[in-house]
Amino acid sequence: MRDVPEIFGSLVFNDDVMSARLPREIYESLHRTIEEGKSLDITVANAVAAAMKDWAIEKGATHYTHWFQPLTGITAEKHDSFLSPQSDGRVIMEFSGKELIKGEPDASSFPSGGLRETFEARGYTAWDPTSYAFIKDDSLCIPTIFCSFGGEVLDKKTPLLRSMEAVNAKAVRLLKLMGDEQVTRVNTTVGPEQEYFLVDKETYKKRRDLVVTGRSLFGAKPPKGQELDDHYFGVIKPRVMAFMQELNVELWKLGVYAKTEHNEAAPAQHELAPVFATANIAADHNQLTMEIMKKVADKHGLTCLLHEKPFAGVNGSGKHNNWSLSTNYGKNLFKPGKKPQDNKTFLVCLCAVIEAVDRSQDLLRIASASAGNDHRLGAAEAPPAIISMFLGDELTEILDAIERGEHGENKKAETVVTGVEVLPDFKKDTTDRNRTSPLAFTGNKFEFRMLGSSFSIADVNTVLNTAVADSFDRLADRLEACGDVEKELDKWMSETITAHKRIIYNGNNYTQEWVKEAHRRGLYELKTTADAVPLFVNEKNVELFTKHKIFTKSEITSRCEIMLENYCKVLHIEALTMLEMARKEILPAVISYTNDVAKNVKLRKEIGVCSENDAALSLCRKLTVLTDTLYAKTAELDSTVNGMDRTADSLEASAYCRDRLVPAMNALRSVADELETLVSDKHWPYPTYSELLFNV
Ligand code: ADP
Ligand code: MG
Repeated sequence: MRDVPEIFGSLVFNDDVMSARLPREIYESLHRTIEEGKSLDITVANAVAAAMKDWAIEKGATHYTHWFQPLTGITAEKHDSFLSPQSDGRVIMEFSGKELIKGEPDASSFPSGGLRETFEARGYTAWDPTSYAFIKDDSLCIPTIFCSFGGEVLDKKTPLLRSMEAVNAKAVRLLKLMGDEQVTRVNTTVGPEQEYFLVDKETYKKRRDLVVTGRSLFGAKPPKGQELDDHYFGVIKPRVMAFMQELNVELWKLGVYAKTEHNEAAPAQHELAPVFATANIAADHNQLTMEIMKKVADKHGLTCLLHEKPFAGVNGSGKHNNWSLSTNYGKNLFKPGKKPQDNKTFLVCLCAVIEAVDRSQDLLRIASASAGNDHRLGAAEAPPAIISMFLGDELTEILDAIERGEHGENKKAETVVTGVEVLPDFKKDTTDRNRTSPLAFTGNKFEFRMLGSSFSIADVNTVLNTAVADSFDRLADRLEACGDVEKELDKWMSETITAHKRIIYNGNNYTQEWVKEAHRRGLYELKTTADAVPLFVNEKNVELFTKHKIFTKSEITSRCEIMLENYCKVLHIEALTMLEMARKEILPAVISYTNDVAKNVKLRKEIGVCSENDAALSLCRKLTVLTDTLYAKTAELDSTVNGMDRTADSLEASAYCRDRLVPAMNALRSVADELETLVSDKHWPYPTYSELLFNV
C-alpha cells in the first residue's frame, strides 16, 4: 500500500495548495469569499486561475471544465483546452479569471421543466469557491452552479448551498437568543453511505435489460438468494477486494475520505462510507464516488450497478444520508451528552427537527422519489413509503417528561457485560439501532435511510436544512417577543412535542401494524413517485421554499414537472425494452425449446411409449399454454405502451404509468419468469440470476 497521507488529496487544489501557491493577499481575499460569502474580485479570480492552471499543468492536465449537477441527477462537464493560439503560430497555455468564474454551456439540452424554452438556450455556470477544484481524466474540474439566462436555477447544488445558508443564519439567530455568545456559524455536516452491486462485466453485457435500464426486467428467483444471511459483513472476495483497494486510492487522490467498506445483505452487494464533510462537499464527493466506482469496476472486468433495484427478490441498494449541524467552535448540536435532560441546546434542536420532519413529511418522501426507488420503499427491505422518526426509548421518555412539564431523571449509562473474563465490559449507546426507520437518530446525527443508491444527496439535504431552518426561525420569533426565554423554551418544547410526536415511532417499520398505526395517526403514505411528487407544489411547500429563498414558485413547478417526466420516461424505456426482449429473445427461445420437446413427444409416440402422463407431453403442453400467455401479455403491454397519450400533462401521464403500464409490465414478467424455470439453460437467451449474483 502506498503512502496514504501522501496521495490523499494529491489531485485537489485544496487549502494547502492555495496557501502555498497564492500570494498572501489573494489567498486571504479568497478566504473571505469562502467563509464570509464576500463577492469575488476579478483580480483575485485572475490570480487564482493562473495558479490553478500552473498546478493543473504540472499534474498533467491539458483541459479544464466547469463541473456541475444539472437536474438529470448526474454531473455534467464540457471540456475546453488551455491552448491559446498566438499570432506567430505558437500556442500558449492560458486560463483567465473570467473563464474560472463563468461558463456558458448550452442549456437547452438539460432538463428545465418548462423554465426555459429551447430558443433561450443560454445557460451559465458559476464557480462555487466553497468546493475545491480537482483533476479528473487530465482535466481541471471546477465545481460550479448552473442557472439560466434569466437566473432560474437549473441544478441541484444552488438550492443546497442556499439551504445551508438558511439553516446557518436561523441557527445562529436562535443560539444567540439562547445565550450562546461564541457562535458565528453553523455548518451542515453529511456522511452518505453508498450501496452498490458488482457483477461480472461479460455476464452483464449479455443482458439487454441491465445494459439499457440498469436493472433486470426479467429473471426468476435463484435457488439461493440472501436467505442464509451469509453475505452481510462476510469475507470479501479477492476480485472485489482488488476493486475496493483501487477505488479507495482513486478516491483518496480526489480528497474523498472513503473509510469503511463491507459486504451488504444481498449477494454481490457492497457498501462504502466516507467520513462526513460539509453538505456541499459531501454532495460533490458522493457524485465523484459513484462515477469513480463505475470506472474502477470496468478496469477490473466488473460492472458497478447503482440502480435501486437491479434484481427482484434480493435487497435493492440505498444511500443513507447521515445529517447533523455543528457550530464554528465544533459543537455538534445533536450530541446529547451524558445528561441529555440538562442539555437544552440538544433538546431544543431535537424538537425543532421533530417539528420540521412532521411538517415536511411529503418533501422528504419526494426527495426519495423515482421509478427505481419505488421498488424498494415499502418492500420490507427499505423503510416504508411513510416518513417517521426513530429516537429510541431513552430519548422518547425524556420528551414525554418535557411534554408533561417535568424534568426527567438522567439515566446512568448501562454496561454490556460480556461475561468473558479477558474481555472488557463496555458502555451501551443511548440509542439502539433501528434499521427499519426512515429517519433514525443515531447518537449525534440523523440517518435518513430512504434515498435510492443512484440519488444525488442534494435534494434531501436541501429539504432537511430548509425545514429545520424554518422551525428555528419561528421559535426565534417567539423568543424575541417573550419575557422569559427559559420559560418560553420549555413551553415551546412541550407544545411541539404534543403537536408533532405522531412522527416518532420506535417499533419495526416493516410491519403491517405500523402501516395501520401510521394511517390512524394521519401520516402520509405515498406509495409511488406518481403519488408523492405532485404534492411538491402544495401551498405549504411553496411558502416554505419561497420564504427562505430556496426556490421560486416556478422553480418548484419545473422541478415537479421534471421528476414526473423522468418517472414516465424511465417506465416507458423499461416497457419498450421488455417488449424487445420478449419478442426477440424469450419467445424464440421458448418456441425453439418447445420444438425440441415436441420432437421427443413425436418420437415417443412413434415407438409407442407415450402415455397420457408422459413427461415430454406434459412439458410440451405446459410450455405451449405459457407461450400463448406470454404472447398475449406481450400484446397487452404493447397496446398499453401505445395507449400512452402523448398530449397528456405530466400528472395524467404519471398516473397512467402507475395504474396501467406498471401492472402490464409485471404481468409480462411473471409469465416469462415462470417459463425461465422450465426452459433448458441451453435455450434460455441470457444469464440467470444465479450466474449474475454468484459469478464474481
Ligand atoms: P452505520 O453503517 O452504522 O450507519 P457507518 O459508520 O457506516 O455507520 O456510517 C456512519 C456515517 O455517518 C459515516 O459516513 C460518518 O462519517 C457519518 N457521520 C458521523 N458523524 C457525523 C456527523 N456529525 N454529521 C454527519 N455525518 C456523520
Ligand atoms: Mg447506515
